[in-house]
Amino acid sequence: MSKSKQLIIIDEELCTGCGRCKDVCPVDAISGIHGEPHKIDSSRCIFCGQCVQTCSAYSSILDEPETPRADKLRERGMFQSTTEPLFAAYCAGDVFEISDALKSDKFTMVQCAPAVRVSIGEDFGMKAGSLTPGKMAAALRRLGFNKVYDTNFAADLTIMEEGNELLSRVKNNGTLPMFTSCCPAWVRYMELNYPDLLPHLSSCKSPQQMSGALFKTYGADINGKQRTEIYSVAVMPCTCKKFESARPEMSMEGHRDVDAVLTTRELAYMIREAGIDFESLPDEDFDKPLGTYSGAGNIFGVTGGVMEAALRTAYELVSGEPVPETDLIFVRGEEGFRIASMTMGEQTFKIAVVAGLTNVAPLLEKVRAGNAEVDFVEVMCCPSGCISGGGQPKVLLPTERDEVYRCRKESMYSHDKNSKIRKSHENPDVQKAYTEFLGEPLGHTSHKLLHTVFGKQDA
Ligand code: SF4
Ligand code: SF4
Repeated sequence: MSKSKQLIIIDEELCTGCGRCKDVCPVDAISGIHGEPHKIDSSRCIFCGQCVQTCSAYSSILDEPETPRADKLRERGMFQSTTEPLFAAYCAGDVFEISDALKSDKFTMVQCAPAVRVSIGEDFGMKAGSLTPGKMAAALRRLGFNKVYDTNFAADLTIMEEGNELLSRVKNNGTLPMFTSCCPAWVRYMELNYPDLLPHLSSCKSPQQMSGALFKTYGADINGKQRTEIYSVAVMPCTCKKFESARPEMSMEGHRDVDAVLTTRELAYMIREAGIDFESLPDEDFDKPLGTYSGAGNIFGVTGGVMEAALRTAYELVSGEPVPETDLIFVRGEEGFRIASMTMGEQTFKIAVVAGLTNVAPLLEKVRAGNAEVDFVEVMCCPSGCISGGGQPKVLLPTERDEVYRCRKESMYSHDKNSKIRKSHENPDVQKAYTEFLGEPLGHTSHKLLHTVFGKQDA
């Protein structure tokens, strides 16, 4: 995504002014009078894409809007073959740039976020929550990617870094509570609205950015390539991931860690454009080592998942004993704000899980006042976590939304349950990456590649 390109847009020709987008926007970035086209204030927008998910005003493929459909598709960065209707609220696409890179002599590496594998099948008529990691890997290979890796590997790595960061803050009287930093919309919200509380954010890059940084260093070494030869793509359920990957601090020596991001829906357009029959693809594995993952890495895609993954590892780090139950049911749930505690050896940690930014402000006010009484907080912007992200297949009927999200969520947990390895620190390729390349969590190389500094943003 170029800096100048607008990311989340409302097409004034198609907008009916129903106000549904305004109702779901967590930061009041949308204005407009009922019945008239609405507008987004991009200086407030956190690019979460919830307005895109909820907008149901469209011109169908049979209508010819005032501006020809072909022009609108081009403006939106969508293939002419796209069969879905043109919705009023949309996210600008990047399929052309990525198609060009696949035709070039670049060495292309792709990563897939956990929430994509439980939703992309829906775009090909499969039932809600169909779990398709193998078909997704096969489709990406057919599209021409040289290496098909998995963001879940870096989710496991995030747990190693973030878990150790939390323990180090506790031990050394560091800033607490510590907040997770893997949701870029949440990070932008903090930067725009609570810059004084930024020291509370974990310094960990998100799994997307950790993957990208590793692709162009460790991954380059493994594949015998130079950093400059690699083009790195991320497939994400989230529109804000496009913004995150373009942040100047997410690059090294002028090379972006992640060159381009495809949403789940955009990957579906590319698969269709290439004439690939998704449903009949065989199940293929992700490439190793940057595609090996644990069940804990996978549940990052659902609200409470990062916390659960972190607690599975933190328990063993702190107590030196196996966690008695791998399924930490007490952090799961639907409520927008959940609070719990867990005793590990001699210590008890108080934790909170927040889903949906409208639920976080009361806690932030407590943190400001110095009486929050929690140690570690997971925040995700979207209502059910990444499974309900702005780049996911659209669920047009609001009445069906809860059921679809429930199916995606169940699918995530069953993928975890059926994984042979369910704790991030037991991922053998993560262990190998530390031995061969990274050294130790929070060590020099890890710090340089996997951590960052978040700063106040004006717009
Ligand atoms: S963008 Fe869509 S949801 Fe928002 S007011 Fe226009 S038609 Fe309604
Ligand atoms: S992308 Fe999110 S923050 Fe931006 S206008 Fe839409 S709902 Fe609001």
